[in-house]
Amino acid sequence: MALQRSLLVRRGIYHAPSCIGLHASGCLTTMSGGNEDDWEREISTEAVHAGEMHDPSGSHIDPVHMTSTYVFEDSEAIRSWGSGETDAHVYSRVGNPNREALASKLAALEGFGMEEPVAAEIFGSGMGAVSASLLGLAGAGDHIIAQSVLYGTTNHLVNEVLPKYDISTSRVPLLEASLLEAELASNPNTKVVYVETPANPTMSVVDIARTVEVAHSHGASVVVDNTFATPVLQRPLSLGADVVVHSTTKFINGHGTVIGGALVSRDPDFIENGGGALVRYMGAVPSPLDCWLTSIGLKTLPLRMREHCANARALAELLESHPNVKTTYWPGLESHPQHEIASRQMEDFGAMISIELGDFESASRFMDGLSMSSLAVSLGNVDTLVQHPASMTHRLMTPEDREAVGITDGMVRISVGIEASEDIITDFQRALSGL
Ligand code: PLP
Repeated sequence: MALQRSLLVRRGIYHAPSCIGLHASGCLTTMSGGNEDDWEREISTEAVHAGEMHDPSGSHIDPVHMTSTYVFEDSEAIRSWGSGETDAHVYSRVGNPNREALASKLAALEGFGMEEPVAAEIFGSGMGAVSASLLGLAGAGDHIIAQSVLYGTTNHLVNEVLPKYDISTSRVPLLEASLLEAELASNPNTKVVYVETPANPTMSVVDIARTVEVAHSHGASVVVDNTFATPVLQRPLSLGADVVVHSTTKFINGHGTVIGGALVSRDPDFIENGGGALVRYMGAVPSPLDCWLTSIGLKTLPLRMREHCANARALAELLESHPNVKTTYWPGLESHPQHEIASRQMEDFGAMISIELGDFESASRFMDGLSMSSLAVSLGNVDTLVQHPASMTHRLMTPEDREAVGITDGMVRISVGIEASEDIITDFQRALSGL
């Protein structure tokens, strides 16, 4: 039993059959049964304690295991590891204690409140995890269906890279049920329906449960990129999705110090031998230091998301009422076309907002008028970041393709930070008044 538990932790598998917060010392807390405050309290506790490992030295925070290889005591230790009698670390591309601790913590959060085991593997980037999810589920001769709007590099992977390996792809706007049904019927070789919600950068929202229902009825798996929402706001596995991917570079780490990614699944075998194993075979391995930094960041995710969301609401309301802003896209606004879906599947509406300012000149003047907020790609940092999708994150798309999915030259994307909301609002009011 002791060996079994250590193996589960090593492989980033989290199983909470009757309790939440299972780690080396056992149960920490139990499920409350639906009270909103209890839920928030419990996921906060989970974020701090799940997956924590305690080094034999007694150090409270697990050290950074900066090592490429691991020492066996003698040849008998090698034999017993080889025959599966004992578990051992051997080589850091295959496994590392910091990577396993982070995987366990993230699996605990994505599987929060679920009875089944949830497993995770950590990658050297979000794109490493996105690629592994698709290559782990589809191969030559298979088909993948994705929504129309995706993060620019994922868009490129789906349109340009996968077809080179004989994986065909197609798009369905918002994965709307009747259109998805028809697309699946005409592509019976579909293995994956790929979802990104809220989507980068238009903030469009896809109905996860409905997509799962339609995809599963045709034997296809559902992968959800949960980067914008995080498991604090949205848990796709509990809505029936098969796999969750993350760019942990963003809110999960939260401090802009790391590039990283994660693959999470309700099927431990997919993590151990399927898409998760691609971290070893394709080598998209994260550094132990990056995993350590991300674990530390993840401890405060629930706390940060509360501040991020509150600031985003205040800013979105200002932007929506401002005469120089043509449209504000934030799923929490009643004017958002999928507000009802977002209200159903998200705990809160996140910290990503896009605005339409009319044309490239207005977008540029606005960005040049900001003083506290930084002009930078990436998102989910404690600092407010602003970027121009058409010339930055989505520049690889043709102007026609951008226009078709609503990414205009006048669109600016905002990642709202956790600074005092008054300071964020003052910065934006000043920049907007210059238009
Ligand atoms: N998914 C989304 C929604 C993203 O925004 C990004 C990056 O911005 C990625 C995936 C890729 O992550 P990474 O840059 O960590 O490879």
